[in-house]
Amino acid sequence: MEFDTIAAISTPMGEGAIAIVRLSGEQAFNIADKVFRPVKGSVNDFASHTIHYGHIADPETNQIIEEVMVSVMKGPKTFTREDVIEINCHGGLVSVNKVLQLLLKHGARLAEPGEFTKRAFLNGRIDLSQAEGVMDLIRAKTDRAMSVALNQMEGRLSKLIKKLRQEILETLAQVEVNIDYPEYDDVEEMTHRVLLDKSKQVRDEIKKLLVTSEQGKILREGLSTVIIGRPNVGKSSLLNSLVHENKAIVTDIPGTTRDVIEEYVNVRGVPLRLVDTAGIRETEDIVERIGVERSRKVLKEADLILLVLNSADELTHEDEQLFEAVEGMDVIVIVNKTDLPQKIDLPKVKQLAAQHKLVTTALIEEQGIDELEEAISSLFFEGSIEAGDMTYVSNSRHIALLNQAHESISDVIDSVEMGTPIDIAQIDLTRTWELLGEIIGDSVHESLIDQLFSQFCLGK
Ligand code: GDP
Repeated sequence: MEFDTIAAISTPMGEGAIAIVRLSGEQAFNIADKVFRPVKGSVNDFASHTIHYGHIADPETNQIIEEVMVSVMKGPKTFTREDVIEINCHGGLVSVNKVLQLLLKHGARLAEPGEFTKRAFLNGRIDLSQAEGVMDLIRAKTDRAMSVALNQMEGRLSKLIKKLRQEILETLAQVEVNIDYPEYDDVEEMTHRVLLDKSKQVRDEIKKLLVTSEQGKILREGLSTVIIGRPNVGKSSLLNSLVHENKAIVTDIPGTTRDVIEEYVNVRGVPLRLVDTAGIRETEDIVERIGVERSRKVLKEADLILLVLNSADELTHEDEQLFEAVEGMDVIVIVNKTDLPQKIDLPKVKQLAAQHKLVTTALIEEQGIDELEEAISSLFFEGSIEAGDMTYVSNSRHIALLNQAHESISDVIDSVEMGTPIDIAQIDLTRTWELLGEIIGDSVHESLIDQLFSQFCLGK
């Protein structure tokens, strides 16, 4: 495919040691040639994948704008598969912008957000899930989220999906052959068996991916975490030490109508999204502030509950009610203030917390925080995630499509088992193939592609 030549500043806006202006397209070398003055030679003569020192100057006024290093990369071995020029400038918004303006004046068009990656996709260098990987990578909030995105970018998910689609195609072909050549008496039975076996295999694989999606989503969006406990037990102290120990990733206080305030912290690779921190800080009682109904809802939507008790106090009815409210959830019970004489009935607490993890802390002395962090990370990274070489599905579009694919492959299995005519099963199987295809962008609608790529930042 041939496109016009696009240009954009590919590094974040602001002061930096260097800033990169990127050009991609058929005219990239010619446009660069007009404005770049290397020590020797010209862009069109340079060997591919080399970098050159020189100046950017306005050819009309001869005014020198920037001292630069220019990378020359001939397609198709480039990010977009087109000819690419990258101009490393000194940074500083003004001069970088001037370089960009000059390129635009000499034939380049300002790239839309994500357009470089979109070209990589349209030119067949990466598939859609890889492109989304690039996007997730830019947004990744923790190391782990980053490696999920990296895996995706490297095409792990795509490989798996392609393998599944291939298996479906082969099955469809085999069914077709069986129908066309009914030479054997048992052909119908055979067809049914092939369909059933293969469909079950495919369904199991999709299911496996969906199981990982929950963890993938957590890695991407953070584990929604709520701290509960009676007033004065140490909830704010807990929040503060979590935030303090684990540099908050984002402090998210959008000036919108949202009345839940969140804070992100990264606990040993587990991104926690601490929900309703305002409730904790302001009135010291989430239940009191947001009302019983809403707090139930907050609890229900939480992935992790940190239930704080005061060791220097008797266990109260209210404490026990909290245990009831969080039954069946992932809970870590924190018995705080162990520096003070113990009044709490610890055996009773252990009994109430039988299904949960329990840690003791003296937050005021910074005691027990390590154990708490350990408990948090082991709760979510036990075994599976730590293994590291699984494929995680973390993108909500992919998850939705996998769910649909799971449904339609289940329909195939149902109809074969019920003895429905084979062509009905064929339709559902084809549908499964199409749905999986949408994940890697094989059957996606143009407008979806546009919408996806527009979510990228400029210059990517
Ligand atoms: P919240 O109402 O649950 O948010 O409780 P806070 O975090 O505001 O703590 C209430 C009081 O207990 C504050 O004065 C804290 O300094 C104190 N506190 C918190 N943790 C400990 C602890 O481990 N030991 C002791 N002795 N006091 C603590």
